[in-house]
Formats: sequence, structure tokens, C-alpha cells
Amino acid sequence: MNTVLVTGASSGFGKAICQKLIADGYKVIGAARRVDKLSELARQLDDNFLPFQLDVTKKDAVENLLLSLPDKFKPIDILINNAGLALGMEPAYEANYADWEIMVNTNIIGLMHLTRIILPEMVKRNSGYIINLGSTAGNYAYQGGNVYGATKAFVKQFSANLRTDLLGKKIRVTNIEPGLCGNTEFSNVRFHGNGKQAAAVYQGVEFIKPEDIANTVSWLVNSPKHFNVNNIEIMPTAQA
Ligand code: NDP
Repeated sequence: MNTVLVTGASSGFGKAICQKLIADGYKVIGAARRVDKLSELARQLDDNFLPFQLDVTKKDAVENLLLSLPDKFKPIDILINNAGLALGMEPAYEANYADWEIMVNTNIIGLMHLTRIILPEMVKRNSGYIINLGSTAGNYAYQGGNVYGATKAFVKQFSANLRTDLLGKKIRVTNIEPGLCGNTEFSNVRFHGNGKQAAAVYQGVEFIKPEDIANTVSWLVNSPKHFNVNNIEIMPTAQA
């Protein structure tokens, strides 16, 4: 039975991915900062789920995760770099610089920590799969998308460059790029808890649901190892 590490497991896509992959028969380590949310999820799942408190921006904490895993959850066969966030929608000349730093530290540096620390073991075993959560925001410019979109463009290019570094090895890399997705905490986090502003984003649009992303991840990890989906852009039918 393969082991999967999912970052950002306490809500949204990450939580749905954990639920789906446990149902598929995987062992799943669900990592995030909020232990109460992870414990709540653990109560719904079986003992093939391991909740793990982790702040991906802290390199030492990521190293510690690898060192402190129980044998049952070693080695990590599949890494899902899902933890991420957007903050603010202001134009660049009015944006809060601290928000920019948090996005870079989480969406870029956090993803680098996980990848750099877990990938060598996969290379040693010549087996593994890394799935990154990019975004359509990395492909298309929109007002206020400035640093968030740029962090996701990083995720896309980093994924492509990883594929090149791993050529000839049996390690797959996929970048998933969702469009507008509701029923997660993303928009609430983006607008610093302003529910009214968050809800306005989704008005009148039938958006993607976390389960749609979880089903996509399930399809990818259960697909034959000889083919790789490099990028997969998933839009709501109602979004151009
Ligand atoms: P949520 O806000 O629901 O989930 C984000 C997750 O990331 C939470 O579990 C949060 O957990 C975790 N997280 C944030 N910062 C850290 C950190 N420093 N260390 C560890 N975990 C962290 O959003 P979504 O599920 O919607 O988003 C998941 C991913 O998908 C993100 O990368 C996002 O950019 C991307 N995405 C989302 C879209 C959408 O419309 N929803 C569209 C395109 C891409 P905790 O706070 O407990 O640490």
C-alpha cells in the first residue's frame, strides 16, 4: 500500500484529497498548521490516516516530519504540494507587502522545502510522484493577481523543470491548475475573513468543488506509471 503526503490537509482541496485517497486504499499523512481541524478529519477516517502538524514555511519542521514518521508511513511514495494561499486583491501599488511575503513563503518556499527534502528518497528508490497545486492564476493575468499569480507561475515552471531533472527516472510530476473553486477556505483567507467579500467572488457562477480536484488526483495517482500528465487546467464550465 502506497503512502501519500498531502500538505494543506486541514481544509478545502487537501482535506478532500485525503478523504478520497483513504477511500482508494492509500496510507495518507495529512499535514497543516491547525491540529484541531486535522484531528477532526482523523476522527472521520481510519488509522491509515496520520495527522501531522506542519508549517511548510519552516524548513526545520519539514525535516522533522521526515525524521519522526512512524515506520508504517515510510517511505513517502507520493507528495501532494497543495498548501497555499492568496492574500488581498489590491493593485501592486497598494498591496500589503507582508501579504506578498506570506504568499511567497508558503506557495514557493514551502513547496521548495517539501520537494527538496522528500525527492532524494524517491530518487534513491527510483520511484515516486509529485503533484503540485498551481492555478489558472499562473497562466492568465487579472487585476489584483500580481504576486499570487506569479507564485503559481513559479509552480508551473518548477514542475516542468523537475520533469527535466528527473528524465530517465521513474518519478512523475504533475501541475494541477484549477480555476474558480468554491467550498474551500481560500476566498475567506484571501479577504482576511471578510465573508461578504469572499462570497461575492462566487456569485452567479457554478464553481469547481474540492471533490472534483480530489477525483482528479485519484485518477492521476491510480493511472499507469508509464504516462505523465504534465499540466492539467481545470475550469468551471461557467468560467471563460
Ligand atoms: P484552503 O484555504 O481551503 O486550504 C489551504 C490549505 O493550506 C489549508 O489546509 C491550510 O491549513 C494550508 N496552509 C496554508 N498555509 C500553510 C502553511 N504555512 N503550512 C502548512 N499548511 C498551510 O484553500 P484551497 O483548498 O482552495 O486551496 C488549496 C490549494 O489550491 C492552494 O495552493 C491554492 O492556491 C490552490 N488553488 C485554489 C483555488 C480555489 O479557487 N480555491 C484555485 C486554484 C488553486 P492551515 O491553515 O491549517 O495551515
